[in-house]
This record gives sequence, structure tokens and C-alpha cells, in this order.
Amino acid sequence: RKSYTIGGETRWVVDDVDFHARSGECVFLSGPSGSGKSTLLSILGCLLESDSGEVHIAGRRVDTLGVAQRTKIRRDMIGFVFQRFQLIRGLSAEDNVAVPLTLQGMSLADARERSGDLLTRVGLDLHRKQLPTAMSPGQCQRVALARAVITSPKLLLADEPTAALDGKSGIETMELLKELVATTGSATVVVTHDPRILKYADRVCELENGRLK
Ligand code: ADP
Ligand code: MG
Repeated sequence: RKSYTIGGETRWVVDDVDFHARSGECVFLSGPSGSGKSTLLSILGCLLESDSGEVHIAGRRVDTLGVAQRTKIRRDMIGFVFQRFQLIRGLSAEDNVAVPLTLQGMSLADARERSGDLLTRVGLDLHRKQLPTAMSPGQCQRVALARAVITSPKLLLADEPTAALDGKSGIETMELLKELVATTGSATVVVTHDPRILKYADRVCELENGRLK
């Protein structure tokens, strides 16, 4: 459960939610704007602390860990994909994708090699050295997907990954996400209210006023 108190009034934003996603499974979280989807995703992603309840990732309880340990969990076990890509502007596609590996201690040369291989796999071989500003939104989201899975995370979280894309790029993004998850086996949670991509869900969970329907 998670609440916010504004002007003396407490509102449950995530209310008595029992949620799970299995390895390799792609679960969609849908629901109207303000229903608590992003809040729940942030709790799963160890970015936000709940008021009560437990969060387990790959059999490990993570909600009781301190800040430094939670940061390591994010680094080593979780991949994030955002609506607006959140690529690092001054870095090439290749270096954006290499960042998570260098944070884990890999040398830049090795990380770039791995990153280059993955970019080739997602169809961006020719764009390795390009900056995000020189790429289309669909290409940027491909780079962001590659960055999110380069460490083969146990958990992959995507918040409205197709909302900033046209229909065709949105479909391509989901096709690619499914293909990558088939390799990494990540438990995948996708927040969306884009009906065009619902067919990519293994399961759909609907939130309303912080509660799972
Ligand atoms: P969704 O992603 O489904 O649109 P959110 O999880 O972003 O919904 O937000 C759920 C509710 O919680 C909304 O009413 C929002 O205004 C409120 N909320 C989210 N974050 C905060 C915050 N930091 N402080 C106060 N209220 C918040
Ligand atoms: Mg949201």
C-alpha cells in the first residue's frame, strides 16, 4: 500500500495490491490516468518505498533494504524503459547502451563491444555512433530497450513505452521487446493504455483507484 497526504487528506494511491510477474512473462498494467500505475511500477522498481507490504524480486525481499542495497538491486536486477526514452543526450547510442555494464564494473572497451553487438541485433548497426538527437523516436526507443536489457535483468519495467511513438514504431517496439524478453527471460511489466499493443500481453491487470480489478 502507498498513500499520499495532501492538505491533511490521505489518499491510497496503491491499495491492497497483490501483484506478481513470472520469468519470461509479459504482464500489462492498464487503467485510467491517475489510477496508480506509475506508482506501483516505481515500487516494483525500488525507486519508491511503499507504506506497507513486501516486494520480492527473484526470491529476494527488497523492500527492507537500505538505499545503497536498493541501488545495487536496480543496477543488477532491473531494467527500465520510459515513455520519453531518457537517453543521455551527449552520449552515442553505443555508449548509452554500454552505461549499465560500466556501472557494473566492466571496462568501457568491453562494454562498447557488447553494446555494439546488441545494437546490431536491434537493427541499429549503422547508428552506433549517432547521438540520440540524430535519431527518430522509434530508433531512440530501440536504443532504450537495448540499454534496459543489456544486463539481462530479472525484472524489466516499461512505463508507457509506446505513448510517444507513432503506431508503426509502437508495434515495432513491442515486437522487439517481446523478442528481447524471450532471450533474457525477464519478468516484464508494461504500463500502458495503448489499445494497439494489448495483443502483446501474456496477461492484463487493470488498476482502478489504486486497486487491482
Ligand atoms: P498513473 O500512472 O496511473 O497515471 P500515478 O501512479 O502517476 O498514476 O498517480 C496516482 C495518483 O497518485 C494520482 O492521483 C497522482 O496525482 C498521485 N500522486 C502520484 N505521485 C504523487 C506524489 N509524489 N505526491 C502526491 N500525489 C502523488
Ligand atoms: Mg503514469
